[in-house]
Order: sequence, then C-alpha cells, then structure tokens
Amino acid sequence: MLELSGLSEMRAWSRAQKSGGGRVGFVPTMGYLHEGHLRLVDRAKARADQVVLSIFVNPLQFGPREDFDAYPRDLARDRPLARERGVDCLFTPDTKAMYPADLVARVAPVAMADVLEGASRPGHFTGVLTIVAKLFHVVEPEVAVFGRKDFQQATLIRRMVADLDIPVEIEVAPTTRELDGLALSSRNTYLSADERRPALALSRALRAIEQAWRGGEADAERLERRGMEILGAPGVIPEYLALVDEALQPVARVNAKTIVVVAARVGSTRLIDNVVLGEGIGADPTVRA
Ligand code: AMP
Repeated sequence: MLELSGLSEMRAWSRAQKSGGGRVGFVPTMGYLHEGHLRLVDRAKARADQVVLSIFVNPLQFGPREDFDAYPRDLARDRPLARERGVDCLFTPDTKAMYPADLVARVAPVAMADVLEGASRPGHFTGVLTIVAKLFHVVEPEVAVFGRKDFQQATLIRRMVADLDIPVEIEVAPTTRELDGLALSSRNTYLSADERRPALALSRALRAIEQAWRGGEADAERLERRGMEILGAPGVIPEYLALVDEALQPVARVNAKTIVVVAARVGSTRLIDNVVLGEGIGADPTVRA
C-alpha cells in the first residue's frame, strides 16, 4: 500500500492510474477506522481498479465547542487495517497542506443544510462540502463511496456534485452496525461501559418506529412520539428525531421512502443514526461478534 501526504503527489498518482486505463475509487474518512469505513472500501474496490482512502480530521467542519482536539487519531492502528482491506493508496494530508492560507472561497450549502445536523451544528456542512470538494479535486476519483450513517451529508454531497458539475459518481453504502444495533462510529470510543447501553436508545427508537409503521401506522406525529418515548431513556439527551423525505423535508404521512433521522447525546458523546423505513435496520450489515 502506497502512502502519500502531498497534494500534487496524490493527484499525479491518480492521473497515472487513469492514464493506464484504471478507474480510481475514493473513500474519504477522518480515520480511527472501523468496519463501517472498511465496508466502504469493499464497495469502492468493487467499482474501481485502484482505491484511495484518505484520513484527514477536517478542522473546518468542527464548531468551536466541538471535539476537534479530542477526536481519536491513530495512524499506526489505521495503516494496517487499510492495507489488509486492500486500499491501494492511503492519503494522509496535513492541515497546512489542505489549508495553506485562510480560505477566500468555501462551498456553502443552502437551506437543506440548515435543518437537522445543520441546525445543531452551524457551519458544519460548509466545512464538509468544502473539504470534500477539495479532496475530489486532488484525488480526481471516478467514484466515491460515502456511508448512509451520515444521511444528510451524503444527500448534500450528491447535490453538490450535481450543482457544481464535479465529474464523480457518488455511491452511498448502508450503515454497518454492531449486532445489538449500535451504528459503528469512531466516536463510540468515547462511550464508557455504562454509556454503551443508553447509546442503544437511538437504534431502538428507529426500530420501534419501523415496527409501528409495518404494523400500519402512517401518521408521522404519532410515530415520532413513539420514537421519542424510547429516546427519552435515562442517560440519553435527545437532540432531534424527525421523519423526512429524500429532500430532508418533514412529512405528515410516511411511506417506504421516508427516512427517520435521530441525534442524541449520551454523556458527552453526540451520536446520530437513521433508517429508511422501507429498507429497515434489519437489512443493515452487522459486524461479526
Ligand atoms: P468519518 O470518518 O466519520 O468522517 O466517516 C467517513 C465515511 O464513513 C463517511 O462517508 C461516513 O458516512 C462513513 N461511515 C461512518 N460510520 C459508518 C457506518 N457505521 N456504516 C457505514 N458508513 C459509515
């Protein structure tokens, strides 16, 4: 596995693959890799000849009171995980390389970014879209794979690529979970042993809504109340639970395409999760016990 941190080296490598007829696939991450990330690599490998995985903890997408400094970083641990999963090129730019000067231009999303995660984390999606656009211009992949775990992010990235005519295909892979339903996240490492159980309230709330819907309930308000009952478990501070359509607009009546999105705090850890009702949490891949 090749490892590069220079931007021009990265671009040159990618262009060399492509001039040899190879398709380049790309998985951007903030590292502290887990099986959810590695399944995105599997997807990218199925769609491309060469796979680039980037690790960059992007300061621009963290708010001033968020966990940028505490965010887990361990390249010595990530490197073999990436290598063993078949990553061809590990791209690890540093902050100075990605942001050599104060930015004059950023990619600022409109309305869709001010709800849900955007309402809870002002400026977050400007940071995300800016770094993803920059990485796309450096790596120049034919296909990039993102996780549905960050549903709003994936939706905004698809829209950005269309709006700005960036020539990359976006693939979104399902959420990888623990057997008990907890969505894998680098932030799960913050959870203490006592917080691990309350953290299950998110996936339980999603599952309860899904079951009620399968049982014939289609009224969004009633389904939301059902989910909030479960999210209100001891040790959990709910942030939002909403039933939205693919454009992230709240719905009054739900259908198979409705997405239930949830965010909550457990101790000092902020967790998010979601389910597309017609697909169901049960269809998501789980990690081996
Ligand atoms: P992050 O390192 O948290 O920025 O995530 C990098 C990519 O991995 C994003 O596209 C995430 O949506 C995706 N991802 C994170 N957790 C999961 C998961 N449990 N299942 C699937 N994709 C995930």
